[in-house]
Amino acid sequence: MKAWDVEIDIDILYQAVPQLAKVFRIIDKIGEGTFSSVYLGEAQMRDGRKEMFALKHLIPTSHPTRIAAELQCLTVAGGREHVMGVTYCFRKEDHVVIVMPYMEHQAIVDIIGSLSYEEVRLYIYHLLKALRHIHQFGIIHRDIKPNNFLYNRHSKMYALVDFGLAQGTADTQVELLKVVRQRPSQKGGGSTGKQDTTQRSKAPPRIPPKTTTTASTSLPHPPRQSTTLPPSSSSSSSTTTSSSASRKALDLTGLRKVPRPVFGERNLNSCTPAPSTTKQPVVKTELLKLGKTEDPATRRCSSASRGPLPVRTQSSSQKPQRTVLQGLTCSCYLTDRVCNICMSRKQQVAPRAGTPGFRAPEVLTKCPNQGTAIDVWSAGVILLSLLSGRYPLFKASDDLIALTQIMTIRGSRETIQAAKAFGKAVVCSRDLPRQDLRTLCETLRGRRPAPGEVTPLPEANKDSATTCHPKIQDDTPTHHPAKGPLKQPKDEASERPGSLYSALPNPQEHSGNTETARLAKPSSGTDCKVKEDERGWDRVPDEAYNLLDRLLDLNPATRITAAQALQHPLFKDL
Ligand code: ADP
Ligand code: MG
Ligand code: ZN
Repeated sequence: MKAWDVEIDIDILYQAVPQLAKVFRIIDKIGEGTFSSVYLGEAQMRDGRKEMFALKHLIPTSHPTRIAAELQCLTVAGGREHVMGVTYCFRKEDHVVIVMPYMEHQAIVDIIGSLSYEEVRLYIYHLLKALRHIHQFGIIHRDIKPNNFLYNRHSKMYALVDFGLAQGTADTQVELLKVVRQRPSQKGGGSTGKQDTTQRSKAPPRIPPKTTTTASTSLPHPPRQSTTLPPSSSSSSSTTTSSSASRKALDLTGLRKVPRPVFGERNLNSCTPAPSTTKQPVVKTELLKLGKTEDPATRRCSSASRGPLPVRTQSSSQKPQRTVLQGLTCSCYLTDRVCNICMSRKQQVAPRAGTPGFRAPEVLTKCPNQGTAIDVWSAGVILLSLLSGRYPLFKASDDLIALTQIMTIRGSRETIQAAKAFGKAVVCSRDLPRQDLRTLCETLRGRRPAPGEVTPLPEANKDSATTCHPKIQDDTPTHHPAKGPLKQPKDEASERPGSLYSALPNPQEHSGNTETARLAKPSSGTDCKVKEDERGWDRVPDEAYNLLDRLLDLNPATRITAAQALQHPLFKDL
């Protein structure tokens, strides 16, 4: 039985785009994002076959050029090399529905606990193939994450979707991306998290279809009264089990078993340092901007206004102590305090894309020259997540928190050095050592005991708005039976002495977060290890960690490309 609200949404869609009813029986809603809703539709083909399609209904406030660019990516690069193709497009007034072959898939969060090493290797291999392909066309996807790389575990099918944030390289072959390149992305606040809500409500007024820009005139105009679809070459899927209602049920039942993200975050709205039942690492990081392409005061103050954050952005080119913005003199520059002027500033809305946890360092530091390497970084984050069995691994709603989380794994000195290479200065209050990737992944997987206690960290400055507690949790979900996330401060894991990783999820976030991994039912440690070994987790070769290291190269200039990564020894048999 379909949920009542889904029925209503389907009715609304039929009303908004009536010609859909002539072609499709819309069965269910299969995806709901901030910028679109995706439905499952069944169509009777000319030859009598029934075929399934995914109907992506874009929010009416989407910019016509943006929509056209998304479509053009699909038409230019889609339909091969594990990139989703497009079958059709319907438009009525400001409503656009992109029709794609439906690919049944499993959410990574649902299967991460049971994936074998070989499945992970193949997943990354096919993701890299898709990336190599789109990068050849000069398309930067900008939102590479498991939700946008559909995976059917049973049929071993893969498809890269969602070009809603794509941008072009300087020499892109996608004409409309040349236009999008100069335009701040409307979908700029990250595709998950609270920022989206703000973005949506602030969406610029829609340009009526009749008065669209030159570029938008190339939007495909489907016949208003189309009744049949061109025969599709896509594979058909007979199963239609994907139900949002059952998804929701899963989310709720899985909640208690939720393996928390390795990195969580504190309530960002609170300026009070987190309660420390354990000695918690305190890191204060600042990002000093070397370039002059943005307003440093805005950047800094936006972060500061959100509470205790690990990273601050500041401009080294400006005089310390005083910064002038919009006629207001700020006195907190380069200090630990946040002045009232900064407190009352609006949160920054900058053209930026992607999901914080998957953003490359050059994106997080707002480096103006971003290329295809940013997608490769995101692929690296996915590989790290899959090898360590944690999803999401980086959970940050803010770029600055995300940067600190990266430093915790890749090292602060290394990050600072890489940032210097692309013109950004990052300052970190303490030295965060680079982690050995194998040790890290095996520890998170529960294959190794957590290392001994780390060097005690400097005490938190309780008055400091920039104090933060970047942490990793050590309770491997399969080894620790479900713990109620709300009991976090008394959690045995975080109280265990000598643990390097301590958990710090925000419990509230979990209840509403559909992107949090849940693993199979807890089993005993030995049980678990045997099963893990069966899945090949005892034989992960060094090449896997070597590739991971290359994907997660902090410097985009030296980071491996997707094409090079496919030549990596890890894939020599493929
Ligand atoms: P958004 O821009 O809102 O994120 P996406 O294009 O990523 O939209 O689609 C949202 C979700 O809808 C995807 O994560 C996926 O679960 C589902 N989806 C999208 N396209 C397809 C497709 N062709 N087949 C099956 N499911 C799809
Ligand atoms: Mg998406
Ligand atoms: Zn200030």
